[in-house]
Amino acid sequence: MSNGHTDPPGEFKNFKIAVLDGGILLAGFDYSGKPVNVLNVESMSEWQKVVRYAEQSPTVKAVVLVSVKEGNFCAGADLEQMHEAQKQRSFQEMEQLVITAHTLFDEIERSLKPFVAAVEGACLGGGLELALACHARIASTHPRTCFGLPEVKLGILPGFGGTQRLPRLIGLPAALDMITTGRTVFPRQGLRMGLVEGMVTSIPSSIRTLENIQKETFVQAAIAQARALCSAPIRRPPLRASLRFFSSPVIRTLVCRYARHQVIKRVRHFYPAPLCAIDAVGRGMGLSVLEGSLTVEKPRLLDLMASQISSHLVGLFLAGEKVKRNVASVPAAVTRIGVLGAGLMGSQIAGQLTEKGYEVVLRDVSSDILANAIGRIHKAQTTQVRKKVILPSDLRYRMMRVSPTTHVKDINLASLVIEAVSEKLDVKRAVLAEFESEAHTDAIFATNTSSYTLADIAARAVHPERCVGLHFFNPVAKMQLVEVVRAPFTSDRALAQASGLAKRLGKFPLVVNDGPGFLVNRILSRYLVEAVIMVGEGISFQRIDTVAKNFGMAVDSGHPMGPLELLDLIGLPVALHVLTSLAVLGSRIESRDALLRQLLPENSPPVTFWKSEKENPEALNAVAYYHRANPSETGPISDDILRQRLFLPMVDEAVRCLHDKIVEHSWEVDFALTYGTGFPAFRGGLLNWARQTMTKGQVAQELESLAAKYGKRFDPCPGLSQGGW
Ligand code: NAD
Repeated sequence: MSNGHTDPPGEFKNFKIAVLDGGILLAGFDYSGKPVNVLNVESMSEWQKVVRYAEQSPTVKAVVLVSVKEGNFCAGADLEQMHEAQKQRSFQEMEQLVITAHTLFDEIERSLKPFVAAVEGACLGGGLELALACHARIASTHPRTCFGLPEVKLGILPGFGGTQRLPRLIGLPAALDMITTGRTVFPRQGLRMGLVEGMVTSIPSSIRTLENIQKETFVQAAIAQARALCSAPIRRPPLRASLRFFSSPVIRTLVCRYARHQVIKRVRHFYPAPLCAIDAVGRGMGLSVLEGSLTVEKPRLLDLMASQISSHLVGLFLAGEKVKRNVASVPAAVTRIGVLGAGLMGSQIAGQLTEKGYEVVLRDVSSDILANAIGRIHKAQTTQVRKKVILPSDLRYRMMRVSPTTHVKDINLASLVIEAVSEKLDVKRAVLAEFESEAHTDAIFATNTSSYTLADIAARAVHPERCVGLHFFNPVAKMQLVEVVRAPFTSDRALAQASGLAKRLGKFPLVVNDGPGFLVNRILSRYLVEAVIMVGEGISFQRIDTVAKNFGMAVDSGHPMGPLELLDLIGLPVALHVLTSLAVLGSRIESRDALLRQLLPENSPPVTFWKSEKENPEALNAVAYYHRANPSETGPISDDILRQRLFLPMVDEAVRCLHDKIVEHSWEVDFALTYGTGFPAFRGGLLNWARQTMTKGQVAQELESLAAKYGKRFDPCPGLSQGGW
């Protein structure tokens, strides 16, 4: 760099460095060959050289660490490297990396020269641990700036000193919350909790050179902070009085016990990582950071890293990255989006769109429905203001971007239109015909249908190539999976625009081929149908749901849920509709209409299985009535058989989906089921679970014996014993 800069010796592959006036070493992290900065043996040893150079150079007075990549400060440890170690069962290199990180971060922390992290973009895992080792952190308000220690979601714990430094910085309760949930914190929240020392509004430079980045406001603020720290001896600020309260060993024990209780309530004993992390935090508080990191945190990290659960979770994480990478990178051509139908799904989709900055035209048939939808969107966004994620002014802008209308012609400027109208084929086709006459000739039509095929809906379309499926799951804000449905007539452009939009909404856009129920609902239907059949046999709601919850269903959402609770959430009318339309796949998907209709009285709301967390007496009466009319003799049945009856048909259907080329790879099934149905992530996905617990031949045999006892719906498909899954 020119003008007043002294060039430090050597070139680095993953860092760009320059010494600025006043002896500020600006270090720009720019991991070569990846879109994000990662910490692995290579980048860490380079960072070590930078740190040592700064320490030894008489010219350098302070260091400011920035990222050259826009929207990513540092994503943490290199998970591909870690997964490779897990697959090879060889952890020496990982252990060496951990030791290097601990000694290096300790060196930074103890350095007499101040280190300031200027954070813009995601600062996660090891990235946050690196920032925590610095003497101050300044955050930019870039929309992608966030902080988090998501390691427990990968079955491990923060292993670069995070369990030791975070509680010392923000106090025990807040640190335990962040560490055990892996939740993300945004700059405003970070400032309030003392995680960052400053927050600065800044516009990222479009040409990402160190010289340009240096001029950004938040980097200037970090440089000023570094200069200020140079003029006074570095001391960690004392813990605030409210936080010091938690330093007492007795209080610490109580807080850790409470945190354990919260974890077990949320994820039971399925996941050891959050409990190990609490242990590491609690035990480390009485030691120095380095001692705690090396003697308490490191051994627990290595044990967890070697576990099957962590290997499954890291595998699923990398599958998600692959799903996102597979999306063709298209320019953000879509800025204005039409949403047809402002019901349960339409209003949530519109809320997500405005949150990400899109202009939304929301169309429904009456102003009352629209007013209710706007109320729901406003309520969801207000929660974010309350949680200090956004400012009241952000809320106003978000609401201003949604234009409710009853006139279909108002979608004429939208480049993509999402259809979320009532699940009736004639209504969907009518809406598509309206789209074709009113929308721009280039616009894309994306249907959110859950039970019709894209081919059914587009059967009368003049331009079917513009039609694609964009199947969001409920609740839209929480469910990360979106099935992007491709029919043979769907154009590559329509597919790319729909996938690109889902990706920009922060979802995983999994491309699936058209077919009844697509991938997720088709497999899920076997599970739901079997639960309804069990109800018809007189098995208690409690027992059915407990078997599924003990297996881990929906535990990752923090609300374990069995199939009957799930049916209540979906709503019986929708569920019955989906199950009835999937009957085209064959008699194995029996919707048990007669039983479900008992729970759908005319002119009154559907009866749910559960009411106020108890078996609903109305549902029990309806089932008893059905039972009298349809007596069935199944005899005593074990929980093991109930579990097999719920999950093995899903495996059978998944293999059929692979055979029908709904998706090509079994990892796609595993990924979709985990993120779309609540199949427990710690089992590594449906097919992975089946492969690991029995041989392929055994799955087919178990299904054959179920078929002999309970009916032909369990007949295994030929592909099950043949492999290829
Ligand atoms: P909903 O009944 O809550 O909303 C449908 C809305 O469409 C209603 O407000 C209705 O007034 C409106 N509508 C009807 N005809 C219209 C027209 N011609 N133009 C504009 N609006 C019209 O239904 P929902 O649960 O939001 O489902 C919508 C779609 O999403 C369905 O295709 C459904 O299968 C799918 N889906 C639902 C879920 C779920 O959990 N409910 C999940 C995934 C997908």
